[in-house]
Amino acid sequence: MTEARKTKAAIRPANGRLAMTTPADLARIEAWEYAPAPEARDYLAIQPRYELFIGGRWRKPKSGRHFTTINPATEETIAEIAEADAADVDRAVGAARAAYDKYWRRCPPAHRAKYLFRIARAIAERSRELAVLESVDGGKPIKEARDFDVPLAAQHFFYYAGWADKLEWAFPNTRPRPLGVAAQIIPWNFPLLMAAWKIAPALACGNTVVLKPAETTPLTALRLAEIIEQADLPPGVVNIITGSGATGAALAGHRGVDKVAFTGSTEVGKEIARACAGTSKRLTLELGGKAANIVFDDAPLEQAVEGIVNGIFFNQGHVCCAGSRLLVQESVHDVVAELLHRRMQTLRVGDPLDKNTDVGAINSAAQLRKIEELAQSGDADGCTRFQTECDLPARGFWYRPTFFTGVSMSHRIAQEEIFGPVLSVLTFRTPDEAVEKANNTPYGLSAGVWTDKGSKNFKIASQLRAGVVWSNTFNKFDPSSPFGGYRESGFGREGGIHGLLPYIEARP
Ligand code: NAP
Ligand code: MG
Repeated sequence: MTEARKTKAAIRPANGRLAMTTPADLARIEAWEYAPAPEARDYLAIQPRYELFIGGRWRKPKSGRHFTTINPATEETIAEIAEADAADVDRAVGAARAAYDKYWRRCPPAHRAKYLFRIARAIAERSRELAVLESVDGGKPIKEARDFDVPLAAQHFFYYAGWADKLEWAFPNTRPRPLGVAAQIIPWNFPLLMAAWKIAPALACGNTVVLKPAETTPLTALRLAEIIEQADLPPGVVNIITGSGATGAALAGHRGVDKVAFTGSTEVGKEIARACAGTSKRLTLELGGKAANIVFDDAPLEQAVEGIVNGIFFNQGHVCCAGSRLLVQESVHDVVAELLHRRMQTLRVGDPLDKNTDVGAINSAAQLRKIEELAQSGDADGCTRFQTECDLPARGFWYRPTFFTGVSMSHRIAQEEIFGPVLSVLTFRTPDEAVEKANNTPYGLSAGVWTDKGSKNFKIASQLRAGVVWSNTFNKFDPSSPFGGYRESGFGREGGIHGLLPYIEARP
């Protein structure tokens, strides 16, 4: 039995100007505090040093250099990771090309499916190990890694395994052909899941792959390389190389690559687009976002608050499709802010390996600085800041769940992606104004609409310039649903049948 005691949680208006929750309210609001329930990590074998996975073997980098990956919740060094330079990239692309010509393009589609099913099953079998590793390397709560990242990664491999021998049915009257070697570059917020989103459709369509994970979170991609060895894929079909932005640039710019798939910041996405311009490389970009979560006065408000909390505090707000702008109808602004206040006080911030933790560590010191700087701009612009007043661990990178009221469209916190647990609250009066404000951003990745009127929901959703619109919910994913952006959120889709298209030539 978990020993529980009640503590009085507190929430403060950090700049002291607005206190929606009175002291009497605070005395009534209580959060259960549980005894620590940390997931064990002692069984997790982590090597002190990892090399590059090229051509089915672990190779020392030609650069001769390694860098460290740390646990952002404790700042402890976990392992040394090989840093691939241009010569290593060349070797990896060469291995992928050789594997494409020798094995993979000739491999019967049903056999490709067999390999993908094997990878999917191995991810499921090793799910606990992968979840702990993801949490330790990236700072995300174990319950999210365990219940979201890892199962969804396995599901993507299962889903695309099913398509491998049915491409002619997916694209009738065409003869779908693979493109060749795919260069895939992924960020640190969903390391294993992003690897699955990229590798599974590429392999299903008959391409070979060179994947580069982010510098701060390479460990689950490297564990996936072990799974790929275990699944006995022909050598060179999947190559995993680690390194910095320069490694990514060398990979995207390599002349032997036929397709580049990138997930990351809009800034780097633009650089990659420039590098691919004028070549025959196919390109897909999954970039940043500044999603609007629109709450109408007829919405079930308590339910909407759960969606708002999930939309912005899930994975510390390190989510490209995070509902980072709350657009709330003016008549219910105060009640929604109040409910949000109260709900936020019950969020548990701390040890990511604790099964009760809701909000884990910020992924890196650099990301924490970026969040702090943007939040301070909210203060400087005169917005009112609310933060939970929980205790934070002494070491590691942490940021309290925060929201700002009094935000207007011109403020930086309404325009720029914060990529942290910080919500900007804006108001609207009419549905047209809600749509106008929601679309007034250079991004267009996702949005949410909360109303109890089905017709209104459809009407608003159809006017939103966003790749995904969630209706009376937020942050829901399924391998059969396409995901991707408009405008500066990128182009191309991942997931579903649409996710096959970037990896094939579908001509009659
Ligand atoms: P990032 O700096 O763009 O990095 C993404 C990846 O690109 C990392 O592997 C990075 O390596 C590499 N990289 C850095 N500079 C490069 C260059 N010049 N050429 C080629 N590759 C380069 O983004 P991030 O800070 O890791 O991730 C956060 C951003 O990703 C946010 O803007 C977020 O919205 C976006 N994101 C979008 C989606 C989506 O599906 N749309 C999903 C997740 C994240 P290093 O790690 O070594 O720097
Ligand atoms: Mg790390």
